[in-house]
Amino acid sequence: MMRLPLFEFRAPGTVAEAVRILDGEGPKAMPLAGGTDLLPNMKRRQQVPKTLMSLGHIEELQRVESSDSGSRLGACVTLSQIAAEPRFRKGLTALAQAASFVATPQIRNMATLGGNLCLDTRCNYYDQNYEWRKSIGFCLKKDGDICWVAPGSAKCMAVSSTDTAPALLALGARVRLVSRTGEREVPLSEFYQNDGIHYIKRQPSELLTDVLLDSSEGWRSTYWKLRRRGSFDFPVLSVAAAVLLSSKGIVVEARIVVGSVACLPLLAGEAARSLGGRPLDEESIAQAATLAARIAKPLDNTDFDMTWRKRVTAEFVTCALRELRGDDMRGERLLLTRHSSSL
Ligand SMILES: Cc1cc2nc3c(=O)[nH]c(=O)nc-3n(C[C@H](O)[C@H](O)[C@H](O)COP(=O)(O)OP(=O)(O)OC[C@H]3O[C@@H](n4cnc5c(N)ncnc54)[C@H](O)[C@@H]3O)c2cc1C
Ligand code: SF4
Repeated sequence: MMRLPLFEFRAPGTVAEAVRILDGEGPKAMPLAGGTDLLPNMKRRQQVPKTLMSLGHIEELQRVESSDSGSRLGACVTLSQIAAEPRFRKGLTALAQAASFVATPQIRNMATLGGNLCLDTRCNYYDQNYEWRKSIGFCLKKDGDICWVAPGSAKCMAVSSTDTAPALLALGARVRLVSRTGEREVPLSEFYQNDGIHYIKRQPSELLTDVLLDSSEGWRSTYWKLRRRGSFDFPVLSVAAAVLLSSKGIVVEARIVVGSVACLPLLAGEAARSLGGRPLDEESIAQAATLAARIAKPLDNTDFDMTWRKRVTAEFVTCALRELRGDDMRGERLLLTRHSSSL
């Protein structure tokens, strides 16, 4: 049996108290939300915080507010809540789908949006127990000095494996980060960085308190996820797409995001721009799919063959855009992703 290491436990009741604790304890303290990733990581000694700070008693983090101008989701809203919330179906479909495809129902009942956005990056050489990692001399990400995926690399290439981040990026979300000295709003497109160790720009003294979304009026969005088992598994490729169409079906604005093929979710800017001013016909879709697949550079550190995952990127972008123009893609979704979407 794998046991948790010893730690101190704090359970603040307000955001103000929480950021005081983070400020006082420094990087050795970590926020604990649902614990569905952090606690297994601690058992495997991938993460060994001196202090765990539970967010479970902070009511402010559990609120959802929606108005005509947009939505605000507290960091501790659970993925089950998001998947079940009718307000998130119209325009924010990609978010509801991404949340509903994470892990299993039991995990989604505990797992939070903030925890999903701050999820540790993953790699076959890292997501192992302590003894396994010790047997290969560990690796750069924890306790070692070599990257087994790219031995010449000075940088860790562990993969961003969060489902909701690509969806929220496609929806143009921002996050609010609060510290003892103030707060800042960061577009999600600037929150992640291309480094498997320092994958988010959150400072240890900052708490992610909210996810902010502008009005999704007129937008359609969707999320496609590749994984071995449709019942549960981390994504090894994902595509989130959102389009704003004119009354004549012309693309006014589009966003395409490719997830789980790098240390961060990738905005396929050129692919999205290529759709502007055009209808979602086979020609524009094929061009966008080719451009989006070009930026996907999966490595051999997760499930499935990396060259095949790159090819599937174009396939998923095609399916996502056809779905957004109104095609019935339920058959393809079931065949290619092994899950259906009732949303
Ligand atoms: C079997 C299994 C399958 C899984 N499958 C998937 C999957 O398919 N897709 C997927 O995306 N994930 C998956 N996960 C991972 C995990 O369950 C989810 O990512 C979940 O959303 C994490 O949220 P949490 O609240 O449990 O985070 P926690 O485990 O509590 O925290 C995760 C990280 O976020 C930090 N954190 C949490 N909240 C905040 C905050 N408000 N501010 C700052 N930092 C914060 C923590 O310090 C920690 O570093 C799986 C996990 C398991 C065990
Ligand atoms: S990419 Fe390299 S350094 Fe990063 S976790 Fe994998 S083996 Fe370790």
